[in-house]
Amino acid sequence: MRGQRILIISHDSELGQTLRALLPSDAEVEVLSALTALGTPISPTHPTSLALVDVTLLSGRPLNLLELAPLQAMPVLLILPESLPHTALNPLLAQLHVLGVLVPPYTTDTNRAALDAAIRNAPLHLQKADLEQQLAAAQQRLDQRLQEINVIYSIGKSVAASMGIDEALPRIVTTAVNLTRAEEGFIILQEEGQLYLRASHRFNEPDAVPQRTLARDPVAQRVIQSGRPVMLKRETRLATGNLVQALLYLPILRPGGSTLGVLGVVNRERTAEFTEAQLFALSAIADYAAVAMENARLFGEIRREQHRLHSIVEQATEAVLITDEHDHLLFWSRTAANVFSVPEDAVGKPFLEVLQHAQLLELFHQAIEEPDSPQGEIVLPGGRVMNAQITSVPELGRVVVMQDITKLKELDRIKTEFVQTVSHDLRTPLTTIQGYVMLLERAGSLNEMQRAFVRKALDSLADITDLITDLLDLGRIEAEYEMPMQDLQLQQVLKEVQAQHQNQARDLDISLEIKLPEAPLQVRGNAYRLQQALGKIVDNAIKYNRPHGQVKIDTEDTGEHIIVRVKDDGFGIPLADQAHIFERFYRVILPETESIRGTGLGLAIVKSIIERHRGRIWVESAMGEGSCFTLLLPKNN
Ligand code: ADP
Repeated sequence: MRGQRILIISHDSELGQTLRALLPSDAEVEVLSALTALGTPISPTHPTSLALVDVTLLSGRPLNLLELAPLQAMPVLLILPESLPHTALNPLLAQLHVLGVLVPPYTTDTNRAALDAAIRNAPLHLQKADLEQQLAAAQQRLDQRLQEINVIYSIGKSVAASMGIDEALPRIVTTAVNLTRAEEGFIILQEEGQLYLRASHRFNEPDAVPQRTLARDPVAQRVIQSGRPVMLKRETRLATGNLVQALLYLPILRPGGSTLGVLGVVNRERTAEFTEAQLFALSAIADYAAVAMENARLFGEIRREQHRLHSIVEQATEAVLITDEHDHLLFWSRTAANVFSVPEDAVGKPFLEVLQHAQLLELFHQAIEEPDSPQGEIVLPGGRVMNAQITSVPELGRVVVMQDITKLKELDRIKTEFVQTVSHDLRTPLTTIQGYVMLLERAGSLNEMQRAFVRKALDSLADITDLITDLLDLGRIEAEYEMPMQDLQLQQVLKEVQAQHQNQARDLDISLEIKLPEAPLQVRGNAYRLQQALGKIVDNAIKYNRPHGQVKIDTEDTGEHIIVRVKDDGFGIPLADQAHIFERFYRVILPETESIRGTGLGLAIVKSIIERHRGRIWVESAMGEGSCFTLLLPKNN
């Protein structure tokens, strides 16, 4: 332990000498007679390793912390007098690094051992104290950094949440000023080639407020042009004539790179300069300013776009209702408001609560269950008819568009009525003509040519009668607002169809087979219309078949649907025609089928009937191999 410096502090010089004799000979020992003589002995280059303090120095007067302060940095061994109340030691033990005590008589082995241990432990104590000090300093620096990061983080959060720059920029300036403890801070933005002061703040003043005044600041101009920060650390007279002690200007950079403006902090009178750490922190804050401006720009665009969309929807002649993803009303057109009496405060309320129209609500429920753009007609009180379509946009909401089709419906009704009247009125004279033509043979013998003419006339009359019948049927199906439906078993319907076409098949030498399951094929439908539809498909399968051909009917229960397939091995349908055969009056032109009579309305009637049953129909066919018509009907469970 060479070179240790030990202080003995006591009034009693004899005691001082006694103790000195107990200390190692190589120690540098100094005896002081009073605590007040302390102060200089402690220096970092040559620290005192141990102080032996005579407690009698302190007795009889209150402990003075200022006196004790120099002792706080060093390990202490207390020299106790003959008698001392225990409690008198407590304040000392609480404030000093007491390594032990020496009790009279001082030359005992116990005291020596205490002294040796203290001399041994003292350097460790000093090291520990030093480390603690370093740790405290590091902790303080860390706390400050953390505080800075926290400030940056919270300004980031508040900027991200605010949509207007008038709100965000003053907050950013205030944060910059508080963080750097600058006298002043500001944001200058470049707008249309000019510099504008947009927010400024003096330290200790109330919060900054937005503003927009022309700014003349050559340093800011330089930062905008170069896109680099400027930091002045000593007293400088600026080109404007102003004197500053320290200044830090940072560019506010748009994510793409161009400079939008400047975030600056200035000390005009105070000589405190800005540090690199502050430059770093402020550049993060300047980035937030750029984010705030970008947010504001995007937000402005969205607002304009929303306004435009709102106006379009509002002015639309269609009734439009738009909901969010929770089916709460977002907005609606003026027409919708009038038609459905949507109250003005309906924004944010559930669609199903605000709209009180049964058909519309049913359609909306349908859209919720199967968001496949359901469409339907809605009859309003007073007889107006709307065609409504609901489009679901995943995670965004639904759009309900309704067009007023009252006039179209009326026209359609007039057209149907006209067709029906004309068809009906035509049928009566036609039946008469047919009757007379058939009687011709009985009226007298006809020659071969006359008989052939009669046959042709009868064929043509049959064609016209079929056409009129089909036209009347199609008109009726389409005019029926609601087709009466009942629970029925499809087996029954199919058996009827088979019975009806058995003779026709036999006449053409075609086999007609039907395979029916034991389990009932339950559907909800109109038996008469379903029989008509299936009858027309079977009729075609026989008509467009070859001699000795086959027609096979089978069914399948998928659990959700009943499928009926009508297969033939006739001429087949060219691919190009397959998409059109369900259209009205469409007939395939083939040499093989040219002579086969038909109106081109059969499959249009079938399609109409199946769709009224919420079913589907399609065909698969290959030329020369035959066709398969598949019919899908929802099951009635
Ligand atoms: P049409 O009264 O002419 O039979 P449809 O509407 O019933 O009218 O059928 C349209 C056209 O589809 C028919 O003209 C025929 O060319 C074709 N077609 C329908 N069914 C079959 C079938 N099973 N095989 C071949 N062609 C068919």
